[in-house]
Amino acid sequence: MTDDLHFACDCGAVAVRIALPAPVDGECVVCHCSDCRDFVRLCGKADRMAGPLGGLALFNFRGSRLEIVQGRERMASLHMTDKPVLRWFASCCQTPLFNSFANNRVPFLDICIPAIRNPEALGSLRAGERHLFTKSATGDASGMPKTSLLGLILRTTPRLLKEILSGQRRCNPLFDAATHAPIAVPRRVSPEERAALP
Ligand SMILES: [Zn+2]
Ligand SMILES: [Zn+2]
Repeated sequence: MTDDLHFACDCGAVAVRIALPAPVDGECVVCHCSDCRDFVRLCGKADRMAGPLGGLALFNFRGSRLEIVQGRERMASLHMTDKPVLRWFASCCQTPLFNSFANNRVPFLDICIPAIRNPEALGSLRAGERHLFTKSATGDASGMPKTSLLGLILRTTPRLLKEILSGQRRCNPLFDAATHAPIAVPRRVSPEERAALP
């Protein structure tokens, strides 16, 4: 499993490549939290990108492996709440792309799987995907393999430490290498805007 992952926004102006190591030290989850769901709805992509129970499929991986092939200037970001979670999307066609921490001091990165053009490159990682925040699912998720947020954090921590201790996080093109600030200034979605979502 050493194929590169290729993903792009719906209009094709933003293209990103990720070199996958072998073995892949990442994990696939489906997040059912209302923030992920409303992010996709806000972008007008729920029909295409939300799963059958409203969840968003995510590939938790290392941001240092991202390579923006084209469209860096079209990267945009927002906050759904006051929590330090940043949502990245392509400003050209409103395609959700990533979830990250508010800055790169915590080099956490989730990649929106529906934007990946060759998801088969994730291979068996998809088969092992677990569901997060199933209580917020739009239907009965009781039979789905689950993970707690704490479990996910514990499994993610070694990847984060590797990124920090090796200095590789500075290669993440979504953040300034010196200050760790996002390259696109985020806007905060208002509660009124969320309440008005169709
Ligand atoms: Zn686009
Ligand atoms: Zn979520």
